[in-house]
Amino acid sequence: MDLCHLTAHELHDLLIKREVSSVEITKSVFQQIEKAENIIHSYITITKDSAFATAEKVDKKITSGERISPLAGIPMAIKDVMNTKGILTSCGSKILSNYIATYDATAVKKLKDVDMVMVGKSNMDEFAMGSSTETSYFGITRNPWDPNTVPGGSSGGSATSVIAGEAICSLGSDTGGSIRQPASLCGVVGLKPTYGRVSRYGLVAFASSLDQIGPFAKDVTDCALILNVISGRDEMDSTSVDLPVPDYTKSLINDVKGLKIGIPVEYFIEDGMDPEVIASVRSAIKLLESLGAICEEVSLPHTNYGIADYQIISRAEASANLARFDGTRYGYRADDADSLMDMYKKTRSEGFGAEVKLRIMLGTYALSSGYYDAYYLKSQKVRTLIKQDFDKAFEKFDVLLTPTSPTTAFKFGEKMDDPLAMYLADIFTVNCNLAGIPGISIPCGFSSSELPIGLQLLGKPFDEESLFRVAYTFEQNTDYHKKRPRMD
Ligand code: GLN
Repeated sequence: MDLCHLTAHELHDLLIKREVSSVEITKSVFQQIEKAENIIHSYITITKDSAFATAEKVDKKITSGERISPLAGIPMAIKDVMNTKGILTSCGSKILSNYIATYDATAVKKLKDVDMVMVGKSNMDEFAMGSSTETSYFGITRNPWDPNTVPGGSSGGSATSVIAGEAICSLGSDTGGSIRQPASLCGVVGLKPTYGRVSRYGLVAFASSLDQIGPFAKDVTDCALILNVISGRDEMDSTSVDLPVPDYTKSLINDVKGLKIGIPVEYFIEDGMDPEVIASVRSAIKLLESLGAICEEVSLPHTNYGIADYQIISRAEASANLARFDGTRYGYRADDADSLMDMYKKTRSEGFGAEVKLRIMLGTYALSSGYYDAYYLKSQKVRTLIKQDFDKAFEKFDVLLTPTSPTTAFKFGEKMDDPLAMYLADIFTVNCNLAGIPGISIPCGFSSSELPIGLQLLGKPFDEESLFRVAYTFEQNTDYHKKRPRMD
């Protein structure tokens, strides 16, 4: 197999045995980019020169006998919603299409500090609003398993770069499913950490109480390695939590005997769900049972309010966060305005795409006086009920297991004219963000048309370790994560 299709931990072993160099790995990734990028379009910006400079630096360290970290010399993609010093950080939007970041997001800085090789900035739905990567100002991203289908979103480019071999692993952000859903549709592993586990400093805010940065990788081990690096308290983000960061590789244990796994009944609905998804997830449950896990049904009675609740909270927060983009301080500015107010209006009207404007309008409405109590306050109360459902379930269960997405990858255009259908793509992922708990999506099968299917594991706050343990056990006993798209 080409180097670009290996995992970070496999490549690290080859690096320290001096069987390959980081420059060779980086070359393999860039050759794959040459081959695949004009169809897949994983990237908005590619940073080839600095990638090779970092790779050379790592190779020198290895030659001089220096110890290197597990991610040193490993090519990674960074979602274009994270600030990267000196490099375009566009959020997939026209309004930031000329914005060069002046600093690194903390998660990016931590990876740079361990000599990760940044390949480029990956494509995404505009301001992370979407489930298909169809709303980027820079064009769509295609799913490597079938280029007529979407990769999921909003972190579409971060998912496709990994499965297509255009990066070894990547970072994405997840506000309502934007890591887990594209991971599921592209057949890779994607983790949304507990809210507060990873600093959001330098992550351009969509909905601040829901956003979290997390890894995409070809297997669970690589996800654990990345989480080890990016986690922890950061004084630049007051919502990052001051708890010790465990070594997550210690949770990579191939054993689920006696672990209690809850199966929420509300996540297995016949209506609107692809029967092949249900069948795959059910057989995954059987496999875990055969390995000694105790799987039992549980009810999370407020599940169905999640999508509506998420719509209000995420849009309200977005309308406040996106107020800063007005042409004054950075980004695109309309140049033919005759007054300051006209400049604001024209800049925002020309700079934002339709989905972003729709959300800003709904959010502003929900926060306006007279409606605040009816919508925003009410939605915060519902959020508490959703959180309490999980608290109760976790009194009995170690983790919960659900499908990640109701369907496999859908065709381009299929949901673009029907926002509600698009929003329902997140039906199984948003409640995790509302409750602030961690969630991981791992490959668990393929449909008859050879599209990947993912399952989701949800855990107690700051118990990513149990997710890794169950995910790792499943992975060790299956081969789904080893399949690669043909891309011919
Ligand atoms: N697809 C969801 C939305 O459109 C989630 C986005 C996200 O997690 N950033 O809002």
